[in-house]
Amino acid sequence: MQSGGKSMIKARRFGKAELKSVDRAREAAEEMISSFYVLAPREWERVNYEVRTLEELSPEEICDRALAQVLCYDCVKRIGASTVERHDLYRICLQDDRILRASDRIDSGRLALEPLLLYVLTHELVHIVRFSQHLQRLDLAPEFRSQEELSVEQTTRQILAPAADRALQRVIATFANG
Ligand SMILES: [Zn+2]
Repeated sequence: MQSGGKSMIKARRFGKAELKSVDRAREAAEEMISSFYVLAPREWERVNYEVRTLEELSPEEICDRALAQVLCYDCVKRIGASTVERHDLYRICLQDDRILRASDRIDSGRLALEPLLLYVLTHELVHIVRFSQHLQRLDLAPEFRSQEELSVEQTTRQILAPAADRALQRVIATFANG
């Protein structure tokens, strides 16, 4: 529950330049993930996902404990009474304000923002690929979640290792310590 005072403070949001960083990081993350999992373009197309930033999030998609979260929606296309298509849609909900704060902590010159976005998006996409390939259940019991987080995190680092320049190494090191 949100206190009255808290909702009065407007959360920081990505501006134009930052949104461009989101696009670039997303492209780079997609490329690395699909080659890591050796996904054919057709398989990749079946992974329905979208990236949303704070401005586009509904109140229940906003979380104050993580930099991002993935939500799964059941999409149904209907014509009249019959279902013509049904698929899962994964939505990566980026929490702009938390990401900006984390980026400031790593480097106040904001050089960390794009590598941080790359790290966050890669991590969330690993979750999505694991769900969509049924390597992991969506309704994972709470006692197994931290183990799953650990494997996702290890995979994320493995994927990013070849691309890790100094800025990205710094981001990874920051999160390695919690
Ligand atoms: Zn995670």
